[in-house]
Amino acid sequence: MNESPPTMDWSARAERLRPEVLPWIGGMRVTPDCDAQFSSLNPATGGMVAELPACGEREIDAAVAAARRAFVRGDWSRLSPRERMRRLYAFAEALDRRADELALLDTLEMGMPIGLAGPDLRGAIDILRATVEAADKLIDEVIPNHPSTLLLNVHEPVGVVAAITPWNFPAYIAITKIAPALAVGNSVVLKPSEIASLSCLLLGEIAAEAGIPEGVLNVVPGLGQEAGAALARHRDVDLLTFTGSTVTGRRLLEYAGQSNMKRLILECGGKSPHLVFDDVADLDAAADAIVAGITFNSGQVCVAGSRVLVHRAVRADLLGRLLERASAIRAGNPLAESTSFGPLASAAHFARVQEYVASGAAEGAALVLDGAQARPAPGCYWMPTVFDGVRPDMRIAREEIFGPVLGVTPFEDEDEALRLANATDYGLVATVWTRDAGRGLRLSRGIRAGSVSIIAGPVAGTVDATAGAFEPHGQSGTGVEGGLAGMRAFTRRKAVALSA
Ligand code: ADP
Repeated sequence: MNESPPTMDWSARAERLRPEVLPWIGGMRVTPDCDAQFSSLNPATGGMVAELPACGEREIDAAVAAARRAFVRGDWSRLSPRERMRRLYAFAEALDRRADELALLDTLEMGMPIGLAGPDLRGAIDILRATVEAADKLIDEVIPNHPSTLLLNVHEPVGVVAAITPWNFPAYIAITKIAPALAVGNSVVLKPSEIASLSCLLLGEIAAEAGIPEGVLNVVPGLGQEAGAALARHRDVDLLTFTGSTVTGRRLLEYAGQSNMKRLILECGGKSPHLVFDDVADLDAAADAIVAGITFNSGQVCVAGSRVLVHRAVRADLLGRLLERASAIRAGNPLAESTSFGPLASAAHFARVQEYVASGAAEGAALVLDGAQARPAPGCYWMPTVFDGVRPDMRIAREEIFGPVLGVTPFEDEDEALRLANATDYGLVATVWTRDAGRGLRLSRGIRAGSVSIIAGPVAGTVDATAGAFEPHGQSGTGVEGGLAGMRAFTRRKAVALSA
């Protein structure tokens, strides 16, 4: 007989949690030299999860110095790739053992339902493993030259990498940023989001358990404008990798210019389109995927498809299906395993989403499903919301809302669809729903986005995010993430000429 495993009592487990709040610097917990604190609140209840020290320049300086010392010492940066890989696999195992705790911390701080946070985190650990597998396959080059000269192009770790991460997938994004940086031998200083830092604060000690030497992975909690800015302005950071808002991304570009011209990898969100043609293979599957995409993690996903561009001939059919699915979604307690839709991550973000929805109505879009209705209270819940008749000049069509809000815009033909798809400052991902693979391919060339999916047949499940590398367009950011190229991005190329 097939018995399902007993479900865990996550609320009881949450009660017992005593989260670590101190920075992890140079292989140990450090009591920071600052009195200021900030609170982490549970968006489902408004209750306090933890009080954390608001670290500043001093702790950032200490963490960068520890990272530099480790890099120069060479007991990580100069290990053979195999030895680094062995320890990173051990890191993955250790993360797996603590995955429940990491997921629970994320759920408590930013509201992602535990039933999603656990599998999601294990997905990040898989990406870590996939990254590690490739660590000794970054083959360098020998350049043809004079017969007595050996001219090499080798890739070296850049040195000290800073990672500034967001709150929407706290541990996931941190792990996937740390993975390629460490795999090629860098040291890292991680500054997690002040909305959700607790899972990240465990990563340094888990790395230490796996045999990663002290100072190689440091984690400092703090506010963006203080700890974040100090890290981004630091003169001894070689590369800064960031995921977050476009506003902050722009600031980081300025800080790099004002300090040491550190290299930047910026992933700053999107306003990604679905293009649904009248020859779509399966309209139900399209509606399923569109609603699942915009409601997963309550729409707080940078690659979420928030703009639905649809051929006039199927507009009404698609809209009906979207409304049916979106209105059937029920919110629940994030600590219940059956919950698939939780609150937004914070009261400030709730206010932002609310303001966007009001602007859409004020600018003349038809609010055909209002997410303010049927939302549980208290808590920062915002239910799925659908606008019809969205024009490309409206704010809800141009700006990233980062909530479960879809805007539907009709088009007449392929040219108009392409124009609308590109009528945005962003360029992260796009999905084209058409049976005509030729049209899909044409559009994939024309759409300004880092990744384009063409669904010409049945939906084949989710695309394996570990496989590809991509580069955002426009204000979605700069630099490459993912795959072998994403790992190379954490190296510097050097020409070495040997004349013998
Ligand atoms: P959001 O507004 O959605 O929280 P942010 O871009 O502000 O997104 O946050 C993403 C990350 O950037 C967080 O870790 C935050 O602390 C950090 N951050 C915010 N402002 C700054 C800044 N001025 N300098 C450096 N980091 C910052």
